[in-house]
Amino acid sequence: MNIKYFDNAATTRVKEEVLKEMIPYFSVQYGNPSSLYTIGRYNKKAIEKARRQVADLINCETNEIYFTASGSESDNMTLKGIAYANKEKGNHIITSKIEHPAILNSCKTLEKQGYKISYINVNKDGIIDLNELISEITNQTILISVMFANNEIGTIQPIEEISKIAKKYNIIFHTDAVQACGNIPINVKKMGIDMLSLSAHKINGPKGVGALYVKKGINFDSIINGGGQEKGKRSGTENVAGIVGLGKACEIAKKQMDNHMARLKELRDYFVEQVEENIPNAKLNGSRENRLPGNANFSFENSDSQELLFKLDSKGICVSSGSACSSGNSNPSHVLTAIGLEKKLAQGTIRFTFGEDNTKEDIDYLLENLKEFIFLS
Ligand SMILES: *Cc1c(COP(=O)(O)O)cnc(C)c1O
Repeated sequence: MNIKYFDNAATTRVKEEVLKEMIPYFSVQYGNPSSLYTIGRYNKKAIEKARRQVADLINCETNEIYFTASGSESDNMTLKGIAYANKEKGNHIITSKIEHPAILNSCKTLEKQGYKISYINVNKDGIIDLNELISEITNQTILISVMFANNEIGTIQPIEEISKIAKKYNIIFHTDAVQACGNIPINVKKMGIDMLSLSAHKINGPKGVGALYVKKGINFDSIINGGGQEKGKRSGTENVAGIVGLGKACEIAKKQMDNHMARLKELRDYFVEQVEENIPNAKLNGSRENRLPGNANFSFENSDSQELLFKLDSKGICVSSGSACSSGNSNPSHVLTAIGLEKKLAQGTIRFTFGEDNTKEDIDYLLENLKEFIFLS
């Protein structure tokens, strides 16, 4: 069966151009980048080229980029690395209620170690309450971590306003930009971002590689210790092929940004319009204006999202159900709960995330099947 993939927030297909760049580093170019002979140095150079490509996408210096094994690792490195390095200064961190589990569960771990965490509320569109953010700041606050764009409902946060607040109180500002990076323009210098997490597999790069941007002058403790790679901040022999793939994915994302955004937005807007016209009481979740171009998240009245997901799967259609935090769990996700969605609607929530490969014909096929299954149920 022909697969129609509308789950690009979960992961994306590695682009041919990216794969092509990566392949030599799995076999013929096998040197350890730390080795001093030619084939080692060759791979060191490949890593440094990728560092430049990543830095160019978000407008920072190459020595401000640290390669990691995932977006999750970048998030862990930030939360724990900043918490441990600033123990003397304070023990308080501010984040939001709608963060990715990589942030929320790192916070849970830190709470067990005696750190205090404030979880800021969001409004019905999923935008954080800036007044609440300000009111939570104390002289113990060492870090504010708020995601750039949400992975479920696509809402984009007022990043520059948050960074201004952080700056005013002299607090480090981190953003999990795994969904945003490569999909919308990010300029860390202009936006005043101190630290930023990104991941390759959400932007048509390979799985198992990410990066953390850390503004020069900010110190953080290493949570993976060893041979001192990545300036001693993230030990472990580098995933050269993965890093090369991440670099190439960033280069392409930068080049195609405007076209990519316009195309996804057009497809998404068409989908949203058709759903709202044809499916009674379908409710779009998240902000209409401040939203990732490829995201549509709908609640369908009286539908069961998992049932719908499996019916669509039988037609080769991949979507994500918004109701389950993890498979086998029918509680609404923390994000849908935080935006105040009624449990009954939350249970009929589906996330559609469009990507590079999708066409208008694919969306018509999706709409056709969606309507059929919803009216049959
Ligand atoms: C996917 C995702 C992550 C985790 O990235 P991995 O590379 O899969 O570990 C973190 N944050 C957000 C917002 C994500 O969408």
